[in-house]
Amino acid sequence: MVAVGVLALQGDVREHVAALGDLGYEARLVRRPTDLVGLRGIVIPGGESTTMARLLVTSELRQPLSEAIATDLAVFGTCAGLIMLAGHVLDGRSDQWSFGALDVTVRRNGYGRQVASFETTVRVAGIGDVPGVFIRAPRIVATGEGVEILASHDHGDGPAPVLVRQGRHWGCSFHPELTDNRAIHAAFVASL
Ligand code: GLN
Repeated sequence: MVAVGVLALQGDVREHVAALGDLGYEARLVRRPTDLVGLRGIVIPGGESTTMARLLVTSELRQPLSEAIATDLAVFGTCAGLIMLAGHVLDGRSDQWSFGALDVTVRRNGYGRQVASFETTVRVAGIGDVPGVFIRAPRIVATGEGVEILASHDHGDGPAPVLVRQGRHWGCSFHPELTDNRAIHAAFVASL
């Protein structure tokens, strides 16, 4: 079984560890550069992207993680994790940086302030219907040519991608780890 980790600096780490555990993977908590050794896949959880970005710098994980992502490590980012993977971030803090692993543009809190959080059913290509929990979710507003759109959601103002894949990297606007449906995590680990 391949080694899978969860970036454990901030956010809903425990829920991702539980999801991977249900699939038979004992996820490694990644807090320092040596935790990356031998990993095939890593989850970047939901949380607060500005805080996560700061902790990635202070933990000295930013550079080695960036290099691993660019070479052979597969990443699955949910919500704030998607923001951390995006090539372009709109409405970020002035100093907000991201790994740029997915050729997408995301708008932080892009589903509006009034309906900041909602639940819906999302139809995923090759998987079927899954519950989608959106919490101050980033909205994917543009995708590059190499990006596969696995699911979209229309929140009343036109469809936007909510689950995308580009090669070995996956990004999700919502939080599959907050429900007991493991289909998306299963698809990610099956791709490793
Ligand atoms: N809005 C948060 C951010 O900018 C993401 C919210 C989440 O992960 N639930 O990081």
